[in-house]
Amino acid sequence: MTARMRLQPEAIGVGMTSQRVRDRLIERLRENDIRDERVLNAIRTVPRHLFVDEALATRAYEDTALPIGHGQTISQPWVVAKMTEALFADGKSPAKVLEVGTGSGYQATILAALGIEVFTVERIGDLLRTARKRFRSLGLNVRSKHDDGRIGWPENGPYDGILVTAGAPALVDALSTQLAPGGTLVAPVGASNAQRLLVLRKDADGSLRQDDLAPVVFVPLLSGLVD
Ligand code: SAH
Repeated sequence: MTARMRLQPEAIGVGMTSQRVRDRLIERLRENDIRDERVLNAIRTVPRHLFVDEALATRAYEDTALPIGHGQTISQPWVVAKMTEALFADGKSPAKVLEVGTGSGYQATILAALGIEVFTVERIGDLLRTARKRFRSLGLNVRSKHDDGRIGWPENGPYDGILVTAGAPALVDALSTQLAPGGTLVAPVGASNAQRLLVLRKDADGSLRQDDLAPVVFVPLLSGLVD
């Protein structure tokens, strides 16, 4: 390789947003026990750098949460992978999923890339508007609304999966009632500085089983709307 080529990393595909950098993230997720090839493929395909400010684009393929404004964050890729993978556990293939906390729109886009019909709710209008622009420019049909997601979106339920992407002291009952039989809810539950990623599975007879996936830290699930 010549020195001149080294000075033009984008031209030879080793820039911070290149496929090679994305593949490195996928390897890292594999090393950290993400196994579902469909989920890994969605993360490989969706350009995460389009979901953060341009100034942070060079860090978009690190396995880390990043600020998206309004004190909120785009989740760490491993957490997105873990939550998404939980929806596909036991050979399931969810058709319709509700997300609470649209944020950057990245998690919703990963779900849409997996062929899922996505409904997402966000309380901060400004974040939602930016996320909607991203959905549009990527040609995705993600349904979204500006509301307090703790009430879910009952008109479109029940859902095969519900992902809550903000932390709360306890599971929200209004959400588990919108889960279809056989459905899966994933939510961070616990104190504001340390939560457990819980999985709630609704059996065919409507009974609920709870599992603990991992320790996580999410921004808080809050009430009230912000423009
Ligand atoms: N899933 C997002 C992560 C966003 S961080 C992504 O992929 O980027 C959590 C988001 O939840 C924040 O945008 C926050 O504003 C939102 N949020 C917090 N409480 C909420 C509530 N009650 N209803 C809807 N959204 C909420």
